[in-house]
Amino acid sequence: MSNPFWSPSLAQLEPYVPGEQPRGRTLIKLNTNENPYPPSPRALEVLGDARLADALRRYPDPESCALCEAIAARFDLKAAQVFVGNGSDEVLAHSFYSFFRRDDDEPLLFPDITYSFYPVYCQLYGIEHRAVPLRDDFSLAVEDYRGAAGGVILANPNAPSGRCLPLAEIERLLQLQPERVVVVDEAYIDFGGESAVALIDRYPNLLVVHTLSKSYSLAGLRLGFAMGQEHLIEGLNRTKNSFNSYPVDAIAQRVATVAIGDSAWLADCCGKVIATRERTVEGLRALDFDVVPSTANFVLARPRRLAAATLYRALRERDILVRYFDKPRISEYLRISIGTDGEMEALLSACAEIMASQNS
Ligand SMILES: *Cc1c(COP(=O)(O)O)cnc(C)c1O
Repeated sequence: MSNPFWSPSLAQLEPYVPGEQPRGRTLIKLNTNENPYPPSPRALEVLGDARLADALRRYPDPESCALCEAIAARFDLKAAQVFVGNGSDEVLAHSFYSFFRRDDDEPLLFPDITYSFYPVYCQLYGIEHRAVPLRDDFSLAVEDYRGAAGGVILANPNAPSGRCLPLAEIERLLQLQPERVVVVDEAYIDFGGESAVALIDRYPNLLVVHTLSKSYSLAGLRLGFAMGQEHLIEGLNRTKNSFNSYPVDAIAQRVATVAIGDSAWLADCCGKVIATRERTVEGLRALDFDVVPSTANFVLARPRRLAAATLYRALRERDILVRYFDKPRISEYLRISIGTDGEMEALLSACAEIMASQNS
């Protein structure tokens, strides 16, 4: 790609490609891990508050103090141990800039199969990285992250595999790299994993990143946050204040502050998604899919009776959208987000029909 007005580094960038957001059609949308249920009604009430008018007239609180307090209260931390941003993608970008851009040649380590934004940030900020292969079953062996490194980033549960590392393994990783920041991206942790937040007080090198996009059903709000010891949070604030002092808008701050406090809503919603996930896994296995064990709101599954790309296209023709990655190691799999029970039943019957028509 080239253009006379573009800088050479811009011409070299290969941007992240998000899952499709179809316009104007009613599809069963199981391709971007959105939550199928509406957000906390208490959080939505904020939108009708007449005081919003005045809040919108002014710049928002640049430090998002009330929101940081609410997050700190929920996780038993201090507000100074919390950093909020405009989606966790932005929080991750600031983390890469703040902790992983190094003068030595030590590469940032992350799994070969993981969130595909990580290599994009490496390119954007000129960070050396090394992809560490997951085992054949997509499990991660912590000892593979030993040795010289500029840092480590893991999604836990991982995406798109859905596999989760137990807390003891995260702790081992923190001990293997005591001089480097280890970022644990817990975008899907509320769907059954054990959060590393409990380790923050003991590990100065740990940064845990969360988002309201998946479990809180607020992908459209764009709110993510990082938690860690104060020196890491201070580093993120230096980067943020050199980029955009007001990244989180006044509406997002208010809605998120209430959403974070509604733990009953969260438990209920995640419980429904988990129950549907377990039924979906059974249904897929009955249709002869290989399903990777998932602790997330999606499953990675390989249809044994036909090519994943063929099934992806056939589902799309039936207005069911799942995610297909034409990439090494996962090109025979589909990543299927967990929707409502009705949506998953429609997916399973469509798969059964497509397979039957292929065999006849
Ligand atoms: C969805 C996702 C994110 C991004 O979340 P936003 O807060 O919506 O930017 C980050 N990490 C992983 C692993 C994700 O799947």
